[in-house]
Amino acid sequence: MRPARALINLEALRHNYHLARERHGGRAFAVVKANAYGHGAVPCVRALAATADGFAVAFIDEARELREAGITAPILLLEGVFEAAELLEASRLGLWPAVHHAAQVEMIEKTALPAPLYVWLKVNSGMNRCGFLPGAVRQAWKRLVVSGKTQHCGFMTHFARADEPEAEATAAQIRIFDEATHGLPGEKSLANSAAILSCPNAYRDWARPGIMLYGADPLPGEDAGLLPVMTLESRIVAVRELAAGQPLGYGARFVAPRPTRVGLVALGYADGYPRATPDGTLVAVDGLFAALIGRVSMDMLTVDLTDLPEAGIDSTVELWGERIPVGTVAQSVGTIPYELLCNVKRVAFEWHG
Ligand SMILES: *Cc1c(COP(=O)(O)O)cnc(C)c1O
Repeated sequence: MRPARALINLEALRHNYHLARERHGGRAFAVVKANAYGHGAVPCVRALAATADGFAVAFIDEARELREAGITAPILLLEGVFEAAELLEASRLGLWPAVHHAAQVEMIEKTALPAPLYVWLKVNSGMNRCGFLPGAVRQAWKRLVVSGKTQHCGFMTHFARADEPEAEATAAQIRIFDEATHGLPGEKSLANSAAILSCPNAYRDWARPGIMLYGADPLPGEDAGLLPVMTLESRIVAVRELAAGQPLGYGARFVAPRPTRVGLVALGYADGYPRATPDGTLVAVDGLFAALIGRVSMDMLTVDLTDLPEAGIDSTVELWGERIPVGTVAQSVGTIPYELLCNVKRVAFEWHG
């Protein structure tokens, strides 16, 4: 069997959820959209089911999967619904749709529902991606209440720059949100992971931690006490000696500067390890640091074993996890850990804890 695996530590996931909720206070939706950021939504949600106050996914198909797995906790639909039929299903399944634009309000007004909905009105407090402008919030809220189709209307917003604690932008978004919702009843939810870790002013009734649940710190250079959840690893399946001057792999991106012992690892970009990863990016071979060399192929990649004489065929290679923070790999590729984690596929998943 091909040795490429993603090991998912559910104990670490629970630890991180508790840390997020303790830090914020109140309740917390565990954000498990995109297959729990690539970690496997159903096993992750089952691991949190006894403790989590609720879950958040992007859209209804992701929520249906959780209901079918027997999850009864509240599930927030962060993107809301796309058509009226989904409102019916949301009502039947007890899902909590976000309402972020006028067409969704209209859909609610026009659709006969089996039971009133628990909705979250999304305020555009400055990210300008989705949500009602501050001046339109009261009217949208009123329409939802008058429609008689809602049993509760909470208010949420999302931050554009919470991962830059020094930026004024988040404080401004909070002020705008508070003004727009002043005096309106209903629960509030502002904070994503970065705001949970850096912005107590954003704490309200519900937090929405995502990336921090998976142990990746949204604020670079800070140690918040999070534990990595996914270890992406494979094994060395072949070893080769290169003479100085010999090229390695596609495009001959790497040319051996010295006699070089190369380990071939059974994992590639089709498994989610980015093709753009540069030479020199760290991996851990049997627990010891080594460097990626040569361009990552679809199914394979190559590492420098020259300084690790003990390493050889069958040595375990960690691409990220306990020893190599996924954030470090993301940084060297010029992306964020979110993208790396939710792109993991094709490898064998093993959940434990
Ligand atoms: C994805 C998402 C979150 C979680 O964000 P993290 O940065 O992963 O904590 C929270 N709120 C909304 C609206 C989201 O789309």
